[in-house]
Amino acid sequence: MLKNCWMAASRISEMYAIKEVYTIKRKYTVISLIIAVITCSFAVYFYLFSINKVSDIYIDKTHETILDLKKDFLKDTVNNLISEIVIERKAKIEYMEKLVINTSAIINAKFTHTDKKFRDFCISFFRDDSDYDFWTVILWDNKENKVIYDPKNLAGDSWDITLSTVKSNLSSYRIVTREDETVVFGISKKYIDELVKSEMSDAIRNLKFNDDSYIWVNEIINYQGGKNYAIRRVHPNLPNTEGMYLSTDMTDGKGNLPYLTELQGINKDGELFFSYYFKELDSEKISKKLAYAKLYSDFNWVIAMGIYMNDLQSYVDQTNEESKALASRLTLILVFLFIIILILSYSLILLIEKLYYRHSKKMLESEINQDSLTKAGSRRSGTNDLNRAFKEYRRNCSNSGIMMFDIDNFKNINDTYGHAAGDLVLTEIVKAIYRVLRRSDKLIRWGGDEFIVIFYGLQKENALGYGEKILSIVSSLKIAVGNNEISPTLSIGFSFFEETDSDFNEVLKRTDEALYKSKINGRNQVNIVL
Ligand code: GH3
Ligand code: MG
Repeated sequence: MLKNCWMAASRISEMYAIKEVYTIKRKYTVISLIIAVITCSFAVYFYLFSINKVSDIYIDKTHETILDLKKDFLKDTVNNLISEIVIERKAKIEYMEKLVINTSAIINAKFTHTDKKFRDFCISFFRDDSDYDFWTVILWDNKENKVIYDPKNLAGDSWDITLSTVKSNLSSYRIVTREDETVVFGISKKYIDELVKSEMSDAIRNLKFNDDSYIWVNEIINYQGGKNYAIRRVHPNLPNTEGMYLSTDMTDGKGNLPYLTELQGINKDGELFFSYYFKELDSEKISKKLAYAKLYSDFNWVIAMGIYMNDLQSYVDQTNEESKALASRLTLILVFLFIIILILSYSLILLIEKLYYRHSKKMLESEINQDSLTKAGSRRSGTNDLNRAFKEYRRNCSNSGIMMFDIDNFKNINDTYGHAAGDLVLTEIVKAIYRVLRRSDKLIRWGGDEFIVIFYGLQKENALGYGEKILSIVSSLKIAVGNNEISPTLSIGFSFFEETDSDFNEVLKRTDEALYKSKINGRNQVNIVL
């Protein structure tokens, strides 16, 4: 009896321990959740931090790439223009050479003329045709060693001096020598260059580029720099300043010295990239420009092209905006995913814990409600069952048979065969009785070798029959203990609820009385007290 009480108490304390473990587990779940939230926040923070870093690098790289593209565009455009000038110059030289050949043919055709006729022809040929105004012509009298016709006043004291001076300046020329006279005619390099310069200047003024870009040309007079070091030849943004002298002291909109920078770069490498501030095309706004300048030394032309940088910034800003919008979208998704994962994992933990708790509770409850040795119902559950049966009887008069039995001379079994044999006998008796009970009947170990059976709905007249049946089943048992066989017997007391009963203890008193009767009347029998 004491042992059973102690077992029940220890089970209850076990249940409390499990509840405590559950509370501690819950506490750790909350702590781990807080840690998870902090970890997630750190992850999001580092994600945002790295996105910002990546965005900075991206902006720098975009800036660099666009700048490189613009530089390539500027350089290619200026170089293409210089190539065009070279081609144009070559074409002009070839064209002039053809003119000289044609003219030479005409002059040579008059070679057989008399001196006077030849001289008159030459003079009127070059003088009267305006197409020859730009030609260089000198007619020399060999006999008198003096000049006959020299519209540009180029002749020197002797023919040799004259020829050597004139020849070096001519791009294409012919000399026709007769006995008394020599004529040299041709087209000067300077004329061709001026022609090319003029045509190319017009062409440059008419060039159209996107982004307010244009090409300008400065002609350097003095490579040392200083006041009037160059003349502005072409400037589509400031056409009225074409022809003005430039100085290396001139400053831009922000006080820098772009002309000096440009000249220094030209002197050093013949080309350079530089930036400066200048008014925008058709506007008074001063903006930063990136420029590329290259020297075309044959003309002393510095051909330069600039492009405003403000569009570059707006492009970078736009790219940045787009990548920032993308980053915030990704961050939102990330945070959302983190929250979902957190909620899911927390719910999963709770669910697992709930299942675990339910399972543990069920196990404990079944342990508390069951006698651990015999697997009969415990006294605790039996008390509840008796209470319920009594209430049921009170509610709808459905009576139940209450049977109490005690193993006869059980102490002897323990003393003779040992406590383990006693345990075996207890277990085997319970097993045997379970075999004849209905599913609805309840077998309860009330204490020590004393048991109670509740027969729900049993008729009073059948009680003794059931008792006899149980007596015979138990007494026919042959429980092997070592070389011996034990056939235990029971003493049974039966009773039923009565209207006068105030609780189930009253029926127990009567069953106990009936059991006592069985004991004193010789054991292994059933008695009923109503
Ligand atoms: P009686 O016929 O008058 O009932 O004689 P008895 O020897 O059975 O006397 P009693 O019922 O008083 O003895 C019960 C004994 O049962 C005493 C106790 O040592 C023993 N016992 C109680 N619980 C257990 C148990 O779980 N296992 C074993 N082996 N013995 C138990
Ligand atoms: Mg006994």
